[in-house]
Order: sequence, then structure tokens, then C-alpha cells
Amino acid sequence: MDQTTYIYLDHAATTPLRSTAKEAMRPYEEAIFGNPSSLYRGGILSKKAIRIAREQMAEGFGCMPEEIFFTSGGTESDNWVIKQSARDSRINQGGCHIITGAIEHHAILHSCEAVAAEGFDITYLPCDEKSCYRVSDLEAALREDTILVSLMLGNNETGALQPIQEMAALCRRRGIPFHTDAVQCVGHIPIDVNDLGIDMLSLSGHKFGGPKGIGALYIRKGTELSPFMDGGAQERLRRAGTENVAGIVGMGAALTDALTTMEYENKISRTLRRQTLYILRSLCPDLIVNGTLDHGLPGHLNVTLPGHDAEEMILQLDQMGLYVSAGSACATGSPEPSHVLTAMGRSYMEAQSTLRLSFGMTNKATDIEQIDRAFHALLGE
Ligand SMILES: *Cc1c(COP(=O)(O)O)cnc(C)c1O
Repeated sequence: MDQTTYIYLDHAATTPLRSTAKEAMRPYEEAIFGNPSSLYRGGILSKKAIRIAREQMAEGFGCMPEEIFFTSGGTESDNWVIKQSARDSRINQGGCHIITGAIEHHAILHSCEAVAAEGFDITYLPCDEKSCYRVSDLEAALREDTILVSLMLGNNETGALQPIQEMAALCRRRGIPFHTDAVQCVGHIPIDVNDLGIDMLSLSGHKFGGPKGIGALYIRKGTELSPFMDGGAQERLRRAGTENVAGIVGMGAALTDALTTMEYENKISRTLRRQTLYILRSLCPDLIVNGTLDHGLPGHLNVTLPGHDAEEMILQLDQMGLYVSAGSACATGSPEPSHVLTAMGRSYMEAQSTLRLSFGMTNKATDIEQIDRAFHALLGE
């Protein structure tokens, strides 16, 4: 089947490059290749492009340009925060307790495991049946020796938005740095770091129409976090390595584009999601919606279809031109059930019958016709 006849329903895993980003990147992939640290014109042009992209990013979530540090993606940003916070604390002979949550992305969870192996004490907050953290659980978990709290803004499997504002306020009152993994949210919902009251935020370009392999870490002015990468003086001495100029330019352009088209894209996503859920309910009345549609990201639909095997459904839907996923893309291929679904109380069997559909920038209102045909063929009599 031709790629173009596919309906892509996996925007939570990755998105294609926006044409605005592609256009913005082209000069830096073709003609302008100077090292941004070089003093001649070719270098200055690259440096200027990075400055503009940094301003676009800063405008995108209400921070100052100098609070943005470009990284290779969400994974690096998350690793940086967890591992370096732990290391800094050890050097300063500070506390050794970190709080995170059971439904975080593996970039956070596995980084926490790494520092736990070095002696750190990690508390994993549980979530409720809708995959939301409770503020009271955080309150009860905070200790004298807590050095960092890292909780995500929106879950990548269910789309559930977390009470970050309240949780960050709690930490601020006690002077504990608060990091949020906002990779699923940036470019999809309005974000203002000051409204949220957070100190650090991870984001990734390829989740909102930018290129893969580029991301950023927002670090609030005054928040201490030593470099993760050692080397040159790039990123104001905080992230060494020659900058991915084209990637940075593409991500800046993609964010600007995503923010202008956000309302329009979200409206289509919400409509398609409502219609798809209606179709699925009519075909599978005992369907379970995982997460919360009212207080979730607009594109995520995570459903358990009891009695149906997720992997089989994915392969059959692929034949009918629908790309969907089971839980998170990162968990696919592993025999373990999704840690998010199990944390919210789904059984192993239910987790094996769960699909994640994520609508977004490539979808059109008319996609519902093919979605309807495919699910009728899959689940109909
Ligand atoms: C995709 C994702 C990441 C990883 O980002 P990459 O840029 O792909 O490394 C981290 N956290 C969440 C919540 C994600 O969805």
C-alpha cells in the first residue's frame, strides 16, 4: 500500500516534519554550514540562526531566551536533570532523595534507577485510576533531604494532564527544585513556565513537527544544574558540543507553526477522537477508556478492548491503512505490559488489549471515513 493512503494515528510517538520547519532548515543543510563558534561570516550566520530559534522557543512558553539549553532530545534533557541533580547534591553533600512518579517516561524512570544504584533514594508517586498523580501523595512524600521532584505534565500513553501547578507550588514553598517532562505537551497546549511555577522543563522537537534528535531543557534563571556534557563552551558553558544548527532552526520554526495552528489542529483531533470513540463503543460496548478525556491532551485516546489482542489489532489495522500503537512506542517489542496501565490498575490481560490512538497534525476531518471502515472490518460481525 502507498504510504500516502495511510491514516497516521500515532502522533504521540512522533510527528512528520512541518513544511515550515523543512523550509527554515534548508539553508542550514545546504549552504550555511559554518560552526556557530567561528568568527567569520559563515559562523556568524549559524550563530544568528540559533539566536532566532532560541527566541522562538522562549516565546513559545514564556521564558527568557537565556533559560533555554538545546539538547539532543527529550531523553537527554531528562537524563541531564536526574543524573546531574544527583551528582551535584553528592558533591555539595546535600540530600539524597528524589521524588518522581510511576507513570513517567522511561527516560526519567531509567535515569532514576541509575542514580538509585549509586545510593539515591527514589520515591515513585502512585497515580489514580485515571492516571493522575495526587497532590496529597506528593505532600506526604516530601522529606528534609529531598533534592528534586520530577513529574510529567501530560502522560504519553493516556494524555492525562497532571496537577503540576499545585505540585510545583508545594515544592517552591520548601525550596525544592521542580522539573517537568513536558515532551507530550509542548506545541499541543498553551504552556507558560511562570504560570506553572516549575524550575526545569524537558521538550523534544519531533513531538510537534520538528526534526528528530533535537530538544531542549528549560532551566529557570538561578536554578543550579551543572553540565551533563563536558567539552566546549557552547550553550553558555552548560551543554558542550557543536550545535545541531539545522535541527535547532527547524525546531524553532516548528514550535512557532505549532502554536499558530494549535487551535485548529486540536479542534480536528478532538472531533476525530469523539467520533472514533463513538464508533469503537458501538462495536465493543465493554470498552474501557484509560485516562481522562476532559482533563487530557486533545489528541490522545487510550482504550482497552477486552478480548482483543493489541498486537494482532495493530497488524490488522496496518493492513487496512491505519497506524496505531499499543501503549507507548518505547514499550513496544517488550513483553512487559505498559507500566502506566498497570499503575492505574489495569490487569495484565487488559493491558494486552489496549490501543493508543493519537490524533494530530496530519489528520483531516474526512479521515473518520477510513477509520470507521477499518474498525468495522476489525471488530464488526
Ligand atoms: C518522546 C518522549 C520522550 C523522549 O523524547 P526523545 O526526544 O524521543 O528522546 C520523553 N518523555 C516523554 C513524555 C516523551 O513522550
